[in-house]
Amino acid sequence: MSVRDAAWRSWGALAVLQAAVAAACALFAALLAACLPSPYSHWLQLGLPLALAMLLRLGRRVWPGLALGLLWLAWGEPGLLLAERLLLAASGLAAALFSAYLPPRRSRPFFRQADVLAFLAGPVALGSLLAALGRVFVLLPAYRHQLPELAWAFARVWLGDAVLLLTLAPILLLAGRTERSCGGGACWRETSLVAGATLSLAALVCCALPGRGGHYAILPYLFIMLLLWLAFRSQLLLAHVLALAIVALALAGIRFEAGALAIAPTIDESLLNVALLGLVQSVTLLVFGALLEERRQVERNLLQANQSLEAKVGERTSQLVESEARLRLMADAAPFPLAMNRLAGGELIYANERAEELFGTHLHPSRALRVQDFYVNPQEREDVAQALRVNGRVADREVKLKNAQGREFWALISCSVVKSDKVWYAINGINDISERKRLEQNLRDANASLRRKVEEIERLQQGLRDQVLRDPLTGLFNRRHLDDILPRVLDHMLALHRDVAVLMVDADHFKRVNDTYGHRCGDAVLTALGAYLSDHFRSGDIVCRYGGEEFFVLLPGASLDAAFAKAQQLCEAVRAMEIDALGHTLSVTLSIGLALCPLHGEDAESVVLAADEALYQAKQQGRDRVCVAAPIQMLS
Ligand code: GH3
Ligand code: MG
Ligand code: MG
Repeated sequence: MSVRDAAWRSWGALAVLQAAVAAACALFAALLAACLPSPYSHWLQLGLPLALAMLLRLGRRVWPGLALGLLWLAWGEPGLLLAERLLLAASGLAAALFSAYLPPRRSRPFFRQADVLAFLAGPVALGSLLAALGRVFVLLPAYRHQLPELAWAFARVWLGDAVLLLTLAPILLLAGRTERSCGGGACWRETSLVAGATLSLAALVCCALPGRGGHYAILPYLFIMLLLWLAFRSQLLLAHVLALAIVALALAGIRFEAGALAIAPTIDESLLNVALLGLVQSVTLLVFGALLEERRQVERNLLQANQSLEAKVGERTSQLVESEARLRLMADAAPFPLAMNRLAGGELIYANERAEELFGTHLHPSRALRVQDFYVNPQEREDVAQALRVNGRVADREVKLKNAQGREFWALISCSVVKSDKVWYAINGINDISERKRLEQNLRDANASLRRKVEEIERLQQGLRDQVLRDPLTGLFNRRHLDDILPRVLDHMLALHRDVAVLMVDADHFKRVNDTYGHRCGDAVLTALGAYLSDHFRSGDIVCRYGGEEFFVLLPGASLDAAFAKAQQLCEAVRAMEIDALGHTLSVTLSIGLALCPLHGEDAESVVLAADEALYQAKQQGRDRVCVAAPIQMLS
């Protein structure tokens, strides 16, 4: 299909639509005209409600069709000039177009108070005013000299058009819209019952009751309660349709001069009553319908909010459950014993599998276990609890625990405090360190044994050292030791510019002792002499057994005079000594050679030689004396 064809097709469709709109408008007006008594049917803009509904439901593009329809209606008015017909049609179209600019919302009309007020103020009040103005211009020639009557006629036309809009427009606008209804068999039974009762009563009241006298004029207004019932319990559209039906019944009653509203002597006043009834019915339904719908909307919003809140709560709950399950899984599968207890009473509320294994028991709701039941020493548990209260945590503390069967073991525990639902809990990580403790104890024992062995070895070493360096008979240092230390002592003292005196001591005629009393007796004498020499000199002096019955004494720092005096004292003391040797009381004398380093020599060899020379002198001079070595020059 070409673009041109498409254009023609759309133009054709639009033309058909306009023609249909015009025809519908004319048909609708003709239908109303048949219901309304003449001449009122000619006074009102009968096409106005449908024109407004079409503009709102089909869009403003239908205005040409509406213009045509309204012109067609105006053309049907008898006895009017062309200008009057045109004016009438134009005022109707203007009223419809103007009203369409202040519409109730197209998708959900009359479901908000603002929409209802806009409808009442716009189409109903001002739109019908515009329409009525057109009619007044047409009526003007007839009432030219009767202005009050003209005003009254204008008011009636305005009211008539307004009531037409009020009773018909809501039905035309609500029809086909999605509207909440109660639904269900019970609801439809209730709706049918109330609607049927309303129509029956309306027919009775509006068409059968004797009207004259106005005794029952109030009765039709009571139907508003039934209409509200239907609006609340069933559908607003149905309530408006029934309101229209009541108005139609009232009009029928007036036509046949019967019914509660046929009270006035003139048809004008009776029609005014019907118009007022229609006005009150429709305004009440619109206002209460909007109130009801707003309330339902609030309820729907609340329900939605509630549902979304419930969904969120459900989501959070499932997240929490999931996260709790994950945590539980983690704690259950932890590769070390883990337990949780209330800080206040110590009641255990969780223990993982490893902890249950360690403590040889199972946590069960029926059996309350307390953490203190597993401490060997209650004070230790109290200390841990106190540390948790003060610091909030305990790290790597060694405690003695016991399992449910009473087996005691060492554990390394780390605890921290958490708060949940205003209750303080302690989380305890427990590490069985019995094996480690046993190994530590073994290590300690091994260490002690090793220490003992080392001491033994040291003692043996000391014995060996003594055996090497000491003389077994007297316990004094031997000549080997003297040879070792003498050069060092001399060098050290020379460096300090200090003298060192040496004494070469020899027991006189000792061979005789042996010969007379025996060798063992001689040993005893030597032992006694060694002990005496040891006591006689200072601790800093060194006494050695030089060999046989000879002793050597080293006096570091001693002057020649002091050494001589000390040697003299020794000679005298030994001379006076009575030595108890194996039951024999013996006396010996000593000959002593004295030499001084560096006076008689600066090295070990020369000093020893000098002392030996001096000893020889002492022997030569008759023994039992001290001789000082000759100075070096003299020797040389
Ligand atoms: P003098 O006054 O000239 O020193 O005469 P003396 O007899 O003491 O000297 P001599 O060198 O002739 O003899 C030393 C004696 O000392 C010889 C030996 O029997 C004795 N003697 C040496 N060592 C020991 C020892 O260990 N035990 C005993 N009982 N006697 C010893
Ligand atoms: Mg000798
Ligand atoms: Mg001797």
